[in-house]
Amino acid sequence: MGCYDTICFGCPDCGEELSGQSKSGDCGLKDYPHTSVPRSVADDANRHAPFVCDCGSKWIFGNIPDYAEAKVSLTLEKVK
Ligand SMILES: [Zn+2]
Repeated sequence: MGCYDTICFGCPDCGEELSGQSKSGDCGLKDYPHTSVPRSVADDANRHAPFVCDCGSKWIFGNIPDYAEAKVSLTLEKVK
């Protein structure tokens, strides 16, 4: 059985709820909004990127902040 945490975000183009899975955190099977992701989970945020929405847009997390905050806020970057 897989063990992962999930980062949730709304597609900036259409609002559809999307999510990415990370295996770098404590694998608590928790969901986190992309604006408040534990540092350890954020390190692996693009593991399954790009995230493809039904509307056709593709996204990656554009910044993995390089600071040691407990929680970090990720931005979304559109993939052409
Ligand atoms: Zn969309």
